[in-house]
Amino acid sequence: MNGKTVMACIDAAHASLREHADEIASLDQAIGDGDHIINLLRGMDALVAMRAQLEAEAFAPALKLAAAKVLSTVGGSSGPLFFSMLTGIAKTSTDDAGVAEFARAFAAGVDAVGQRGKTGTGSKTMMDVLMPVAEHFTAMADARASKHDVLTALPRIAEENMLATRDMLATKGRASFLGERSRGHVDPGARSSQLMIGAVCARIAQDDA
Ligand code: ADP
Ligand code: MG
Repeated sequence: MNGKTVMACIDAAHASLREHADEIASLDQAIGDGDHIINLLRGMDALVAMRAQLEAEAFAPALKLAAAKVLSTVGGSSGPLFFSMLTGIAKTSTDDAGVAEFARAFAAGVDAVGQRGKTGTGSKTMMDVLMPVAEHFTAMADARASKHDVLTALPRIAEENMLATRDMLATKGRASFLGERSRGHVDPGARSSQLMIGAVCARIAQDDA
């Protein structure tokens, strides 16, 4: 893993977000202020514009550079949260991280999001996708699951847990202002996080195929 891996994952996440942009916009229009996809695509465009710089770096420095760009471009609630995610991963990962090391790094990233957003699961946010994925990832790494099995399982866990946000009551972020009316719509940050996890896993699996 190096800066080229980081950029390949950004490209994959970017393509998936663009493909589902209208849907994410509708979700945030339903229970937020409608800007979530605009915020994310602004960040993605800024990351794509620094391709050469990112690709020249090792893994952790590339993630840190990307995180700083996310913080200065994405905005909203999600910008600082995705910044925490990327810096949390960068702090604990190296170029030669295997499945077990990367599982720990990912869990550290998710932990950083939890600290920044002061929430865990059950409040109808991106954490409802990120935490179960981190837990399964760690459990699979502890059980010495193969990279292939991990890359197959995590997108499924992400999708199940994204769908489960539909019936939740929002107690964090803008959607919480709606109270009971927040039920019936998937959380936009849960959907964008799930799409990015799915796209990144598929991209990494492609390299190993
Ligand atoms: P804003 O709500 O400020 O307009 P965005 O639209 O960019 O910001 O992001 C909204 C998403 O951010 C929500 O769908 C939710 O997943 C996530 N979010 C909001 N508050 C929190 C929080 N405290 N912890 C984790 N995620 C949160
Ligand atoms: Mg919003």
